Amino acid sequence: LIILRDITEIMKNNPDILQIDPLPPSDSNMFQKRYLKKMRDLGEGHFGKVTLYMYDPCNDGTGELVAVKALKQENNNVPEVWMKEIEILKSLDHCNIVQYKGCCTELGRQEVQLIMEYLPLGSLREYLPKNKLGVAQCLMFAQQICQGMEYLHLKRYVHRDLAARNVLVENDCLVKIGDFGLTKYIPEGEIYYRVHENGDSPVFWYAIECLKEQKFSFASDVWSFGVTLYEILTRCDYRQSPPTKFFEMTQLPDGQMSLVALLSLLESNRRLPYPRDCPREVEFVMGQCWKSKPADRPTFKELIEKFEAIRR
Ligand code: ADP
Ligand code: MG
Repeated sequence: LIILRDITEIMKNNPDILQIDPLPPSDSNMFQKRYLKKMRDLGEGHFGKVTLYMYDPCNDGTGELVAVKALKQENNNVPEVWMKEIEILKSLDHCNIVQYKGCCTELGRQEVQLIMEYLPLGSLREYLPKNKLGVAQCLMFAQQICQGMEYLHLKRYVHRDLAARNVLVENDCLVKIGDFGLTKYIPEGEIYYRVHENGDSPVFWYAIECLKEQKFSFASDVWSFGVTLYEILTRCDYRQSPPTKFFEMTQLPDGQMSLVALLSLLESNRRLPYPRDCPREVEFVMGQCWKSKPADRPTFKELIEKFEAIRR
């Protein structure tokens, strides 16, 4: 008792002597596998598979719907890259970026799953062909993508996979960027990230310098945004998709397309055709995003201002 009183006294006089840890690290974003009830598949890309679950700890159907992304096994994916994707999403907080909710690991297994908010309307690739969007709504979505991208770039991340398939739809007036699987950090003072691995890449969304020298920069994300803008204005019609159009533009026999052919096309200044109902000012913006020299392309900040002016 005496010792205890002494300690209390000492602590009162020296408040920083004993730094008592307030609480163990928050556990609120660890989801328990046993409470996750599978509802249906949502989609998959090259790296991951996304499934809709209900997280229902009370086991009475009152739980919340969440989207769960798991790394595909078959592609000999690198776990470090996957953990990086989770870390990056966790560090982002913006209304035009899909919201991280937590992780889930199966007991006794290494596998980690990423839990994020569920966006009921799927990606722009599913949403656009099914809904008759006017140009104004297309431009609103385009501006929101720019807003999410401006935030990402402020944090010095390059996305490297901006495309309609990776933009998710919350409702008729809100989209969010999802899928940070290829996102990389660009250290202060440097201007690009050079990839060494040569896996599956979304080449038809790539800028010239990405195809030629594997250099990814903020400006190469702007090029990919131009292609995404093209997809939005063609309402993701598969007959006009970037791969389909580029195939048509090369004179190679059906189904053949080499990186060399794509690159030489772009280097001779050929570009995707402007979509049918694309306003003049938007054609101009698209053209700016596809400038050969990275430094000639606008930044996302400038793009936001342009869209604000066009939509006014
Ligand atoms: P990958 O890294 O394999 O490309 P994505 O993260 O792009 O995986 O997800 C694949 C698909 O799953 C998306 O194109 C979209 O259709 C669907 N999807 C992904 N996340 C969500 C979500 N949070 N809500 C609803 N659908 C989603
Ligand atoms: Mg994807």
